Amino acid sequence: MVEATDPVWLVLDGYEDEPAAFGVPPYIGFHVRYVCGVLESSNIAYEYLTVDQYRQALKNEPEVMAKRLSNCLGVVCIAGAVVPGKSLRGTPISLNETQALIRSIPNGTPSLFGGWAIRGWKQQGWTPLRPNLFLAVQDTDATLHHFLESNEWKHQRRSAEQWTAWAQAGASSKAVKQHPDLGTSEHPGPLTYEVEVYQGCVRYKRGCKFCIEPKKGVPIWRTPEDIIQEVRLAHDAGVHHVRLGGMTDTYTYMADGVRELEYPIPNPEPIANLLHGLRDDERLGILHTDNGNPSIIAEHLEPSEAITKTLVETLSDGAVLSFGLESADPSVHEANWLNCDPAQLKSAIRLINKHGRVRGERGLPKLLPGLNFIAGLNGETEQTYTMNMDLLREIREEGLLLRRINIRQVEGEGFQEIPSKAFAAFKSACRDEIDKPLLEDLFPMGGILRDVHWESHDVRTRLPAHLNSPHTDPAMHGKPGITFGRQIGAYPILIGVEYKIPLETRSNIVITGHGARSITGVELNMDPLRATEKQLSAIPGIGKKSAWSLVSSRARALRKSKGRRPFDSIEEWFGAAGVHYDIPVGRFFEEFIHPE
Ligand code: SF4
Repeated sequence: MVEATDPVWLVLDGYEDEPAAFGVPPYIGFHVRYVCGVLESSNIAYEYLTVDQYRQALKNEPEVMAKRLSNCLGVVCIAGAVVPGKSLRGTPISLNETQALIRSIPNGTPSLFGGWAIRGWKQQGWTPLRPNLFLAVQDTDATLHHFLESNEWKHQRRSAEQWTAWAQAGASSKAVKQHPDLGTSEHPGPLTYEVEVYQGCVRYKRGCKFCIEPKKGVPIWRTPEDIIQEVRLAHDAGVHHVRLGGMTDTYTYMADGVRELEYPIPNPEPIANLLHGLRDDERLGILHTDNGNPSIIAEHLEPSEAITKTLVETLSDGAVLSFGLESADPSVHEANWLNCDPAQLKSAIRLINKHGRVRGERGLPKLLPGLNFIAGLNGETEQTYTMNMDLLREIREEGLLLRRINIRQVEGEGFQEIPSKAFAAFKSACRDEIDKPLLEDLFPMGGILRDVHWESHDVRTRLPAHLNSPHTDPAMHGKPGITFGRQIGAYPILIGVEYKIPLETRSNIVITGHGARSITGVELNMDPLRATEKQLSAIPGIGKKSAWSLVSSRARALRKSKGRRPFDSIEEWFGAAGVHYDIPVGRFFEEFIHPE
């Protein structure tokens, strides 16, 4: 809770939300950690709050929060999403909230705002004026460091040494140790530590026209040792799960010929050192990665195959390599200096499928490509969308799996009007012909998914009330309602169960149905003595009537059994209730045991 004590700096995590920088819970982003790392390294007292905690404090204890702000030595806020989307576990700070926060900070209190949203809002003309307020457009951490040293605001970039120092100090900072998703050693939370592997893109000389990465110049890599040491410190602070972020392409990490070649040659050794080095620490739980560049993979199949095998060996199942095709149209490709063509894309997808489609421990394919399209690029015509759809059909006809297809719309300066009819037709054809059957292949009926973390009740976003009893109370298991949850890791599928499960717990499920972008399931190994009517009727084929027959026949048998187990088997129970079931029902239940 927010308490007014001695004056300290306040670090407000407004959440990063970029494809290569996840920071919305359960992720903890790297830029806010670097900011905390600066304060840790300078031995300056500070407090870390997520924007969701801040919203709650404003709502429940507005006076305490106001006092806290009026007392604080300075404020640093990372705002990461220009247009904040709602996600299940958190919502990034909005422009309105940022403006309100600025208004509530006393005049003259040093205030530093950084992150992609700040740059975006500035570009859109946002210019808040206030004494001692600074909007960072370079590295927020380095800018803060400069201010602390000189009492002067100036845009700054961090050096390689500072990068290491602040990344490591940030790994055990309050952003991690006090993060609400960290949990405890008895009840570990789903916190996932996003680690920055490198900056920039190997296409820095002539990169995709819409992208800012090439502006960063020659890529700057962090060494495997540096990253492993940072993650080791994060494990010391209680972290289990890690995603390798900040990579425009997993395959060109420390690649050869970055300055000379259009297609630098992937180097399997450093990425293997990094991945195996991380895996060697037994405290590591889920490990996922970031993007892949299909043109690099296709042009260098041999070293890319070696890297793919390492990824499959070391990553947790459910890993996704996002491929940015953006458009299948050669004219759009040409006009925007895009990264890969359809032939290169298919060759890369085949390679990842060859090794990655095998299922892992949690029931998911180990490693699959995701595919990104962008609508609004220069040169697009109605034909572009026919070409996109033809390509997707070809991929599907070859039986290749994609984990997700992401269609992003861009607009404004540098982009063109989207042919709306053709675009809408493409989106709906993609949903019906590709997404739906893919979802059924990836999550087949009757398949088992393990370690689903339950996050919200009845609505698809977690509410503050969900953090407390009765939502977390074991006694609510099986009560009427809907529970939503996900497995830990990148781009998890949303899973709904048609009864209540205590939140912030985990269980395994059998897949029982498919929605548009979600699935439904029933838990495995329910206790047959306690399964409620709602739990029973969530099993496919058991209607409300059969569920009641099962509950009442169990009650009768329990009365008669006088402390012994009511039935010898699940089949006997179903038989006594007159419920005929044509698939083995045993998987849904544990064995009957004595009631006491
Ligand atoms: S390949 Fe990816 S990171 Fe590189 S310029 Fe293109 S979009 Fe940007």
